[in-house]
Amino acid sequence: MWIKQAAGRATTLCLVSGILVASGYARAEYPDKPVTLVVPFVAGGPSDKIARDVAESLRKTLGTTVLVENTAGAGGTIGTARVARATPDGYTLLVHHIGLATAPALYRKLGYKTSELAFLGLINEAPSTLIGKPGLPPNGLPELQKFIAAQDGKLNLANAGVGSASHLCGLLLQSALKSNMTFVPYKGTAPAMSDIMGGQVDLMCEQATNSTPQIEAKKVKAYGVTGAQRSAVPALAAIPTLSEAGLPGFNFTVWHGLYAPHGTPPAVLDKLNKALRAALKDPALVKREEALGITVIADDRLSPAGHRKFFDEEVNRWSKVISEAGIQPE
Ligand code: ASP
Repeated sequence: MWIKQAAGRATTLCLVSGILVASGYARAEYPDKPVTLVVPFVAGGPSDKIARDVAESLRKTLGTTVLVENTAGAGGTIGTARVARATPDGYTLLVHHIGLATAPALYRKLGYKTSELAFLGLINEAPSTLIGKPGLPPNGLPELQKFIAAQDGKLNLANAGVGSASHLCGLLLQSALKSNMTFVPYKGTAPAMSDIMGGQVDLMCEQATNSTPQIEAKKVKAYGVTGAQRSAVPALAAIPTLSEAGLPGFNFTVWHGLYAPHGTPPAVLDKLNKALRAALKDPALVKREEALGITVIADDRLSPAGHRKFFDEEVNRWSKVISEAGIQPE
């Protein structure tokens, strides 16, 4: 008799646990396996560097391995599409920059929609710098401006592909200078920086992340910082803004944010946002960023709603700037 009852209870237990597993309740708590941060540019560039820094801190807070995967190409749009299409379970995330907000105005066709992504928080804001290869003859922006005009479109400018921050900065520069240049695309600005230092390409607009150490070491020439104010970092403090140097109103800053595929469970998004907040308070990370002239986000844009609001403002701002500059989508 009791054998029959016990068998009955066991069947009920199996049924209940079967239902729990099927409905997801019995799943181990997130995260129970490695999390991947997709960077849509090659290793060694500004996006890769901040992603690796954040990954290191996320690892401590989430208690799991956080890997960085570089899915580069097409100005960051290939890696973005990879995350937009990933399973929305919190195990595949995207670290991307301003290009996410400007790509819709620069591409006729994109392999993803921004609505396929969930916002997790803004990470940092970095000024860019206009740099040239060592030995490039002009000294200062006014001389460079004449030099570019005299080259009749032949002077080349490295970038990380259509839609990348360096590409957008180059387009804005062409429009402000009223001169064309030959754009040389790379899969990220790390290899482009090697080519600038080696003298294979002439110019690049690159974030302080990568350019501050090279400017300090005099391995590249600096023509201006792209933000509205000069940088306070010693290596950059003497460099004028492009606006001061002859392009009034020029103002370009690059920010990065963290994203998950749309449809990621709210509890997972919340856990990731909390982990990101903790990562951005990590004194070692903040110190490294500040030494390069980069601001780590500590305001409301660190919340998913604040990030989303800022992002929408950036889309509006940049689509106007891009169309007023006469830049056509490709
Ligand atoms: N800084 C690059 C850009 O111009 C991307 C990168 O390699 O991080 O968008």
